[in-house]
Amino acid sequence: MIIDCHGHYTTAPKGLQAFRDSQLAGLKDPKHVPSKGTLKITDDEIRESLENAQLKFQRERGTDLTIFSPRASGMAHHIGDATTSLHCSQHCNDLIHRVCSLYPENFVAVCQLPQSPGVPPSNCIQELERCVNELGFIGCNLNPDPSGGHWTAPPLTDKYWYPFYEKMVELDVPAMVHVSASCNPNFHTTGSHYINADTTAFMQFLTADLFKDFPTLRFIIPHGGGGVPYHWGRYRGLAQDMNRPLLVDLIRNNVFFDTCVYHLPGIELLLKIVPMDNILFGSEMVGAVRGIDPETGFYFDDTKRYIDSVTWLSGGDRKKLFEGNARRVYPRLKL
Ligand SMILES: [Zn+2]
Repeated sequence: MIIDCHGHYTTAPKGLQAFRDSQLAGLKDPKHVPSKGTLKITDDEIRESLENAQLKFQRERGTDLTIFSPRASGMAHHIGDATTSLHCSQHCNDLIHRVCSLYPENFVAVCQLPQSPGVPPSNCIQELERCVNELGFIGCNLNPDPSGGHWTAPPLTDKYWYPFYEKMVELDVPAMVHVSASCNPNFHTTGSHYINADTTAFMQFLTADLFKDFPTLRFIIPHGGGGVPYHWGRYRGLAQDMNRPLLVDLIRNNVFFDTCVYHLPGIELLLKIVPMDNILFGSEMVGAVRGIDPETGFYFDDTKRYIDSVTWLSGGDRKKLFEGNARRVYPRLKL
């Protein structure tokens, strides 16, 4: 089985945007009393939104199962307050649950969290429990910067996050470290904010003893680990200078990278540098880059094609990359 650990519902029917628009309009009206509101989307609309996109690409590219979550840039935790974020997260997560119920062989669910700037992440525990225990979700997306590009939250290794980590450990679910839209014009959302955040999260993990406190806590750093594999020597050297453990020991059971890297040389670098046990196949389709690469004639985000063309990869490693590692990191995945 080929498991794509990184897919978002970027093609959700327009009813989701209509809900969000009315929520945002309410925020501008001082007399408005926040309410959860309703989401008007039919099962047929869900089917239509997937058949010509994610499902078509699964079939064409030969992947089987996508670990699927709400659109990451749509989380926009910096908008409104914790109640805004909770209502939006509940609707988005319920919608993902409907997708996975309609296509149980194609999608398995990961949730968005109702984070909000300045609000402790413990406020997300209830929604995580609801999604995992009641709806069968297998993980979550954790935003290290709910301010949307201003980095006002403590580092991921700070005790600020610990109550939430305790719940992740108890439920045995990993988190993908995933920022959302940038509201800082210096940072393009998918081109720099995402990649910055991936790199930043890795450096935070390197400098603290988070995984001594939580030996079974697991994070996926998406987008190939941001700038980390390319600068592996820098991070090894920094770890050495700071009397930190070897990187391979530091990440062994706790930090994983996906393969959302959109050209063959980048994928080859990732596979050569990062231990094979710490890489999960991912494509982030339909996502950040939607076009076709004129140099190859294939979609940039068809990452399976790059891996397939790496001839030196052993059969065992290929199996780990496409399936085995995902099953270790997401033990609630039972398919
Ligand atoms: Zn993503």
